Amino acid sequence: MPGHATLGVMGGGQLGRMFVHAAQAMGYRTAVLDPDSASPAGLVSHQHVRTAYADADGLAALIESADAITTEFENVPAVALRALAERRPVAPSGDVVAICQDRAAEKAHFVAAGVACAPYAVIETAEQLAAVPDALLPGILKTARLGYDGKGQIGVATREELIAAWALLGQVPCVLEQRLALHLELSVIVARGADGALVNFPVQQNLHRDGILAVTQVPAPDVSPALAEEAARCAGQIAAQMGYVGVLCVEFFVVRTESGLRLVANEMAPRPHNSGHYTIDACDVSQFELQVRTLTALPLVAPRLHSPCVMLNLLGDLWFDAEGRERTPCWDAVLALPGTHLHLYGKASARPGRKMGHLTLTGASLATVRATALRVCSLLGLPSDGLV
Ligand code: ATP
Ligand code: MG
Repeated sequence: MPGHATLGVMGGGQLGRMFVHAAQAMGYRTAVLDPDSASPAGLVSHQHVRTAYADADGLAALIESADAITTEFENVPAVALRALAERRPVAPSGDVVAICQDRAAEKAHFVAAGVACAPYAVIETAEQLAAVPDALLPGILKTARLGYDGKGQIGVATREELIAAWALLGQVPCVLEQRLALHLELSVIVARGADGALVNFPVQQNLHRDGILAVTQVPAPDVSPALAEEAARCAGQIAAQMGYVGVLCVEFFVVRTESGLRLVANEMAPRPHNSGHYTIDACDVSQFELQVRTLTALPLVAPRLHSPCVMLNLLGDLWFDAEGRERTPCWDAVLALPGTHLHLYGKASARPGRKMGHLTLTGASLATVRATALRVCSLLGLPSDGLV
């Protein structure tokens, strides 16, 4: 119960840090397992176990400290989660995390849950490569495992390019997806309890740049209520079908077809998600609080969006000027604008493309918030596409 227990988390990145903040706000103690001595979550946790994720001593130390354990990233070895689960409640389970770790298993699960995904083929052998149907080209070749922020993906227009791309990726197991003409991208975050209770946040509309999330807007300005409802229903189905316990994000593409707009599941994350960071400042319960609640079997309540919002990701690029010299972004000017919530993850050094923090802008209407977002973009030198 709050005030007594210690909650453990596998992984010390920014998602772990925001989980720790939510858990501590509710009176829990926290323990983080992450090999990095300067990890964002390790820096703010009561305890920090500094070992590799599958290290037997590290796992034993986490079991010793924590009464229940969750994860903040999907690439934690599923065997580690299963080992933890022998001694402590673990949510989400190693089995569902294993599905999310593998694009082929993930897509098969979408299909099993009755949710459409992009036409695809699994490529693990030269025979499977040769048998790829022409209809999947042009496509995107993605490694089945360990991809994030567009890494491990190569666009291919022809068979020759496909063969070269698979070689470049080291002939590891891959999925070839047909390249779809995206009308827009959205995602839905659901939380499901061990008792099967299911709640969801409102659908968020996402803009990616170079494969990395850049902007999230809620309420989704270009999504009809019917499509939003369908996305939420599909995400719930995906969670329920695998007996999921925890917070789950499902990313969707919206594609235009002859019969209208259609939802296509892209991928899912067995944890809170970058596109849900807005929930901290714009909802009455955040995705991280719901992660705490699902882990500790506290009641789930339907979250309410109390303010329209725009979330802007702050990548390391902002820490460099046009000549490549390091600088500090002009936070004072940004924070002078109304409804501006700055979150920095405490990372010691900035690199281009590295997620350093995010800004959530809240206001009385989406129009006001978008106007503020445009001013922030001009102050920070961020592109404003998707907001005008
Ligand atoms: P994440 O950081 O979300 O885990 P990721 O590296 O796993 O990202 P994806 O979500 O598969 O990558 O793809 C990143 C982005 O690339 C998508 O959000 C979309 O903009 C684009 N993209 C991916 N697959 C397709 C596709 N089949 N057709 C068109 N665009 C795509
Ligand atoms: Mg993605």
